[in-house]
Amino acid sequence: DENRIRFKDKGDRATVELVLDRRTRIVLFKLINSEKISEIFGCVSAGKEANVYYAINTSQQEFAIKIYKTSILVFKDRHRYVEGEFRFRHGYARHNPRQMVAMWAEKEMRNLKRLQVAGIPCPEPLFVKQNVLLMSFIGRDAKAAPRLKEVGFGGRVEEFYRQTVDLMRDMYHKCKLVHADFSEYNLLYFEDRVYVIDVSQSVEHDHPQALYFLRRDCSNINDFYKKNGAAVLTVQGIFNYITDITESSDEIRWEKAKSTEEISDAVFKEIYIPRTLQELQETGQDESIFGKLTGVSKKPQTNEEDQSLSESDENPNTEDQDKKKHGDILYEGLSKQ
Ligand code: ADP
Ligand code: MG
Repeated sequence: DENRIRFKDKGDRATVELVLDRRTRIVLFKLINSEKISEIFGCVSAGKEANVYYAINTSQQEFAIKIYKTSILVFKDRHRYVEGEFRFRHGYARHNPRQMVAMWAEKEMRNLKRLQVAGIPCPEPLFVKQNVLLMSFIGRDAKAAPRLKEVGFGGRVEEFYRQTVDLMRDMYHKCKLVHADFSEYNLLYFEDRVYVIDVSQSVEHDHPQALYFLRRDCSNINDFYKKNGAAVLTVQGIFNYITDITESSDEIRWEKAKSTEEISDAVFKEIYIPRTLQELQETGQDESIFGKLTGVSKKPQTNEEDQSLSESDENPNTEDQDKKKHGDILYEGLSKQ
């Protein structure tokens, strides 16, 4: 059968039949024909939104292939992350699951590239087409790195807590991204480092919901480390540590965070009420206060990193340039839903 891919089971090397639609199979054939990979093995993870497979090339280099599911149901609740992003301003293809999924895959590719350029530990993204993303494998000898959830930290729990919070800070400042699904399930432990994965839903730091997502991320990670016995700071403390743009050193900032009291959700919402800068202008609030707190400014960032990234994308698209050009109407269409 010409439609057969050599899916193998690592154990007995028997061919495994996988239920994949024709288009996905074609993308995988192309990956094999282009010799990016030579064999695909069984599932590393079968998730709600994607399956991840283990693959190798002829030099026994290891890869992870993430195949996003194209079922429309899975993507139903995702519009929250997409609305307010300039590149989806023309309305994204809510009724075309294939297109929608391709957009998520491309978004994950772009976000991973940004992380990689910034030196944040994550899989190296290598190729994306339609619902298939090829990336480097975090792990060794076909054994995927454990998720933080499965790691026993012993006496080093605080060290990893700090490393994790620093990763969030780097992601925010160097990549201008908020993960938006940051948890012990999307962090891998490998060679003494915390690696971040699953960034398809990550948003720009000036996304109208970015700070709410960030606060939720902070809260999740605090709960997790607390459960593991770390003396965690307050959610507000690490939120401030991550977003703070004043010049002080990390150590000074950390000390400051330690003494930061928790504020209630209600108070948080009061402080961070300006969801969009347009709203700010309408309410006459001082934009500079908001900017000072979080580094989010009205002017679209001219991010040279981004420019070069979009040029080197497998699927070049002009969305990021678009965003710059039309920066003034960054939030157009937000109120529409
Ligand atoms: P989702 O949560 O949407 O199913 P993820 O990107 O979180 O997709 O991947 C699911 C799981 O697959 C992860 O928890 C991790 O165990 C594994 N995984 C994903 N990417 C890699 C990778 N590059 N290397 C090793 N394991 C990976
Ligand atoms: Mg995940």
